[in-house]
Amino acid sequence: MSIKVKESIEALESRGVTIDDIIDIVMHLQSKYSPELTREKCEEMLMKVLSKTEVQLTIITGIEYDVMAEQDLYINKELQQLILDDYGLFGLDEVLAYSICNLYGSIALTNFGYVDKNKYGIIGKLNDDTERCHTFLDDIVGALAASTASRVAHHYGKKRRNNGEE
Ligand code: MG
Repeated sequence: MSIKVKESIEALESRGVTIDDIIDIVMHLQSKYSPELTREKCEEMLMKVLSKTEVQLTIITGIEYDVMAEQDLYINKELQQLILDDYGLFGLDEVLAYSICNLYGSIALTNFGYVDKNKYGIIGKLNDDTERCHTFLDDIVGALAASTASRVAHHYGKKRRNNGEE
């Protein structure tokens, strides 16, 4: 595991998100379409998503924005308050998360829209946390799960087309 992957996983964990939490969402999204999918396979696919530099930088950046708001470090306090309030018209939290989904095509984007709305598992918990600010993180987690699910869909789709060969 590269240092940056480790750093990204640790950053997620420091904010209450584990690899298992993300796998839960991927299974929820994808097991209906890929019945052969196991948690182990999900983890393997998630690690491939996490191995991309763009993904690592998005995780670190989003968490930094959340923590800075929590610690009252924004210069523009009005902007800080919008982030703390998870203001509905802010929208840059979703845009940052798209930078992950955009690497994995349209399935990632539609899955992201779905988890963003139904707030499955840890996404709901982050959303309901009144102690800390997760305005950026909930979308990043959704994007990681949606992108992993897209990768899974492509993996099994290709395998089927190749008559079972990986
Ligand atoms: Mg958000």
